[in-house]
Amino acid sequence: MPELVVTKDINVPGIDSLDVYRQHGGYEALAKALREHQPDDIVEIVKQSGLRGRGGAGFPAGMKWSFLAKNDKPRYLCCNSDESEPGTFKDRMLMEKIPHRLVEGVLITSYACRVKTAFIYIRGELALAAQQVEKAVKEAYDAGLIGQNILGSDFSCDVIVHRGAGAYICGEESALMESLEGRRGYPRLKPPFPAVIGLYGGPTVINNCETLVTVPAIVLNGGEWYASYGTEKSKGTRIYGLSGHVKKPGNYELPLGIPLRELIYDEKYGGGVLGDRQVKAVIPGGSSTFLLSADQLDTPMDYESVAAAGSMLGSGGVIVMHDDTCIVGAVLRANEFYRDESCGKCTPCREGTYWLVEILERLEHGHGKQKDIDLLLDVCDNISGKSFCPLGDAATSLIKSSIRLFRDEYEYHVTHGHCQVGPGAKVHAG
Ligand code: NAD
Ligand code: SF4
Repeated sequence: MPELVVTKDINVPGIDSLDVYRQHGGYEALAKALREHQPDDIVEIVKQSGLRGRGGAGFPAGMKWSFLAKNDKPRYLCCNSDESEPGTFKDRMLMEKIPHRLVEGVLITSYACRVKTAFIYIRGELALAAQQVEKAVKEAYDAGLIGQNILGSDFSCDVIVHRGAGAYICGEESALMESLEGRRGYPRLKPPFPAVIGLYGGPTVINNCETLVTVPAIVLNGGEWYASYGTEKSKGTRIYGLSGHVKKPGNYELPLGIPLRELIYDEKYGGGVLGDRQVKAVIPGGSSTFLLSADQLDTPMDYESVAAAGSMLGSGGVIVMHDDTCIVGAVLRANEFYRDESCGKCTPCREGTYWLVEILERLEHGHGKQKDIDLLLDVCDNISGKSFCPLGDAATSLIKSSIRLFRDEYEYHVTHGHCQVGPGAKVHAG
C-alpha cells in the first residue's frame, strides 16, 4: 500500500519504539511546533491543510479547534480511539503499529489548543492497541516528551490513556466524556458542543485517532503540502478499510477521491472480488452509511461525491458484497448490532431497533408478510430524526437504502419463504 502520510514508515521494524520512531523523524514536528510556532499558528496551518475529522462526520479539524470557548476553565483534549463502527479497523492499526505518531499528534494538538491534560480513550476490546499506546506514553514521559516543560519549552502537558469497557455508544463524543467522568455512557444533549462545555465542564476538543495522527506531518510539511492531496473540498489522504468479498482486504491509505472501483479492483488494493464474482452492493463508510449499488462503482471516494451518490464517506470502512449475498440477511446482521448497542436512553431507538430486528428476522426466516416491508420503513421513519443521538439514525441507513435498491429481494423472501441467493437459498435448495 502507498505509505503517504499517516501510514508513512508504518512497516519499519521496531517503529513502535521511541528510538526507531525518532530515527525516522519522529517528534521533529513537535519540536518544530514548539520552536517555530505560536499555538494559533498551528490552528491556522491545520485550517489551511483542509484536514477534516476522520471519525466519520468530516468536520474541519482546525475550525473545531478555533471554536474552543475562551474562558478560565481548564481545557481538555480527548482522542477518540473508541473505534467500533462495523467495517472500520484503521485506528486499531495505527495504535498497534505506530503509537508514537498518535502521541505526537496529541501533544501538538494540545499545544495548539492550549490544553494541559489530554486523554486517549481506547475501545476496551483493543487490548494490543492499548498496550502499545500505554508503552509509548511511558517512553515519551521518560524522555521528557510528555510532562513538564516539554523539550525545554514552557509547554507542559499530561497524557492519560483510558480504556473503554466495550460499549459502541462511548464512541459518541458526549457519551465518551460521560464515560471518562466515571458515569454510564449516555449521550448528552448538543448544543452545547464539547468545544464550549465538555469534559468536567471545560472547553474540550475531541478528535478521532486518525485525525490526530495526521497532524505531525501537516506541521512538518505545511498545510499546502497536505492540501495538495485529494480533491478541492476533500483534501488530503485517508485510510480506507476494505473488507467483505474482496481478494485483499485491509487498510489502504490513499488520496481522497480515489474511485471506488479502483479501490476494489486495483491489484495494489482490493485485487478484485472474491471468486471473480460481480459486486452487488457496497457499504462505503461503515455500517452507519447507506448502501451503494453496483452501478455506482465509479463514485470518487471523497465526502462530496459519496454524499451526492446518496451515502456518506463516514469512517472509511468499505464493505463489499458480491452477488451471492442475501441483502436481507446482511441487513439483519447489522441491525442486531444496533439493537444490542442502543444505550436505551431514548424510546425511538431503544424500542425501534428491537422492532426492526424482529421484523427483519421474520422476513429472513420466511415468516414475513408483504406489509412487513413498508412496516420496516415506517419504524425507520419513527426513529430517524427523532432519536437523541446519531446511533438511532445510523440504525436505519442500511434498511432504507436496501429496500430502495433491493426491494425485490425482500419480496422474494415473502413469496418464497427463503433467501434468493446466499447460504439461505442453498440450504433451501438442498
Ligand atoms: P456531528 O456532525 O454531530 O459532529 C462532528 C463534530 O463536529 C463533533 O466533534 C462536534 O462536536 C463538532 N461540531 C459540530 N458542529 C459544531 C459547532 N457548531 N460548534 C462546535 N463543534 C461542532 O457528528 P458525530 O456525532 O460526532 O459523528 C457522527 C459520525 O460518526 C457518523 O457519520 C458516523 O460515520 C461516525 N461514526 C464513527 C464510528 C467509528 O468507530 N469511527 C462509530 C460510529 C459512528
Ligand atoms: Fe441511546 Fe439510541 Fe437514544 Fe442514542 S439514539 S441516546 S444510542 S437510545
